[in-house]
Amino acid sequence: MKKIAIIGGGLAGLVSAVRLSRMNFEVLLFEKRQYPFHKVCGEYLSNEVLDFMNREGLLPTNYDFPQINKFQISALAGQSLTMPLDLGGFGISRFVLDDFLANNARESGAQIIENTSISEVAFIENQFELKSISGEVYHADLVIGAYGKNGVLDKKLERNHLNYEAPFIGVKHHIKTDFPRDLVALHNFEGGYCGIVAIENDQFNLCYLGRREDLKRAGSVEEMEAQVLKVNPFLKSIFENAEFVHEKPVVINAFSFRPKKLIENHILMSGDTAGLITPLCGNGMAMAIHSAKILSDTIAEHASSEQWDRQGLEAAYTARWNATFKRRLWVGRKTQSFFGSKWSSKAALLVMQRSPWLAKKIMKNTHGKPF
Ligand SMILES: Cc1cc2nc3c(=O)[nH]c(=O)nc-3n(C[C@H](O)[C@H](O)[C@H](O)COP(=O)(O)OP(=O)(O)OC[C@H]3O[C@@H](n4cnc5c(N)ncnc54)[C@H](O)[C@@H]3O)c2cc1C
Repeated sequence: MKKIAIIGGGLAGLVSAVRLSRMNFEVLLFEKRQYPFHKVCGEYLSNEVLDFMNREGLLPTNYDFPQINKFQISALAGQSLTMPLDLGGFGISRFVLDDFLANNARESGAQIIENTSISEVAFIENQFELKSISGEVYHADLVIGAYGKNGVLDKKLERNHLNYEAPFIGVKHHIKTDFPRDLVALHNFEGGYCGIVAIENDQFNLCYLGRREDLKRAGSVEEMEAQVLKVNPFLKSIFENAEFVHEKPVVINAFSFRPKKLIENHILMSGDTAGLITPLCGNGMAMAIHSAKILSDTIAEHASSEQWDRQGLEAAYTARWNATFKRRLWVGRKTQSFFGSKWSSKAALLVMQRSPWLAKKIMKNTHGKPF
């Protein structure tokens, strides 16, 4: 059976690991950190993946995850609008979800190698050679790149999107506060927006996308929150009244939403490594899961027999990925330009107030259908 190496154990990597192991491929997944761990993410998971996750046993059953069916948005000066969500979702921390999936992958037969960062991948005579930062060498017939928004490998592969600016940062806190548990809110501030949503264990996720230059200017995350985020009265109230669960937030630096190449040097990219949707759409997690489904199905169809065709596999994956995600990513990029400034966020709010049908249409276009 083919040996498949997966670089990165987030949602895209882990869902592929579970499914491909169940299909009897030999799966080796490398994760640079050790489970369980926290990562920057708004932790609102769209219901478009609910049927799939339940069908495949990919969700923990020992928690009561808050169901989210309302959406609130506020402009910088505090004007706000609340509306129902057409599809809705639920709050679940990555600490819980990724760890559950890693255990599921192990039980399905995948080998999970933690604390191992892959820094080089070479394609030689129809085989891959992978090297870790500490010098170990591994071999595989197929490689999936699921290492997230940015990483050492992007530089090694000289990926095209690195020729452009990477102006964004992401910051995540877990908090305890008095806030509705069926609502996801998105509060604008100059240069970004901050989401709040309930997760398991009576906690809330408070996560924002901001500008690197603002962090640099402020000197620290705390100062940036004081100077930039708290201008919005909703955020001021949340930051000043919440109990912060962890001493420090989780931070990710320097990424962009530029289109990326789906296949590089025969490495099949999945999740954020293939294309990152703007977080305001609230479905990067769902897309990572869906892209893992598409990729694992395509591998099963094209690489199960001895006589297999790498080119055919790559072409089929490209066609499916483009048909499923290309438009969504484009709409996400365009929608993002209406957020994160005083005037544009106020204008976006006014348009949504006056034309709820348009707001619904945009929302629909940034989401997929249950599969
Ligand atoms: C501020 C912000 C808020 C967001 N909010 C939401 C939200 O509310 N809802 C939603 O659906 N989406 C949200 N997203 C998007 C979502 O977090 C991502 O789309 C999702 O995590 C993608 O999953 P992934 O598996 O592709 O990557 P990741 O989850 O990032 O996983 C990649 C993994 O690869 C590992 N890794 C990296 N390099 C290497 C290496 N060289 N070797 C080995 N391992 C490596 C990393 O440690 C990591 O565990 C948000 C994103 C941001 C930035």
